[in-house]
Amino acid sequence: MKNFHIITLFPDAFDSYLGESIIKRARDDGKIKIKFYNPRDFTGEPDKRKNRRIDQRPYGGGPGMVIQALPVLKAVQSTSRRTKKKQKIILLSPRGKQFTNEEANKLAKSKSDIVLISGRYEGIDARVKKILKPTEYSVGPYTLTGGELPAMILIDAISRRIKGVLGDEQSVEENRIAGADVYTRPEILTYKKKKYRVPKVLLSGHHKKIDEWREGKK
Ligand code: SAM
Repeated sequence: MKNFHIITLFPDAFDSYLGESIIKRARDDGKIKIKFYNPRDFTGEPDKRKNRRIDQRPYGGGPGMVIQALPVLKAVQSTSRRTKKKQKIILLSPRGKQFTNEEANKLAKSKSDIVLISGRYEGIDARVKKILKPTEYSVGPYTLTGGELPAMILIDAISRRIKGVLGDEQSVEENRIAGADVYTRPEILTYKKKKYRVPKVLLSGHHKKIDEWREGKK
């Protein structure tokens, strides 16, 4: 079982994606477990009806607000309260290293729990990085409004590499089939009076030729 601990101000943002299809089944089957920790619960303000503020203006000026370090640090600390398992701490950041299949493989194989810290606004007070020394991952060369989508991307990419999650283990062989076009019934698709056929090689039953076609060798 792989444990994911997500630090986020918006846990509800995860509901629909992580509650559907393969990830839902992986959770139901106990292959992965996902827990949420909201820094707002670690402000020292016990009354949930009050606005438990965690963002403040940046020192030195500049636009937007910055998430304070302490509630995030306490939230991370609480992830290991009842476990002695090793943890890999990851900070989602547009300035991190590009997340890839290779990184996903390593994380899926490792025995460590995964802690994912999602930022918002102008990001998180940089002292969180200094103290926790997390690995910083970016999901691509663009800036999103928050780390929730990136966290879900990592969970998805890692989970599908955990044994038994996809059912068909071959689906994970990215190198063999990545990039290849896929086709299904009907063999001839008619659309706006034009006919679109499935490539002949895929109907041949000749597996070596099919693999070559998929690898682009022809
Ligand atoms: N100037 C800030 C910075 O460089 O971190 C931008 C913060 S961004 C608006 C808010 C949060 O979204 C970030 O703290 C990070 O968690 C997340 N985020 C945005 N784009 C991302 C990306 N490409 N990959 C991973 N996380 C991203």
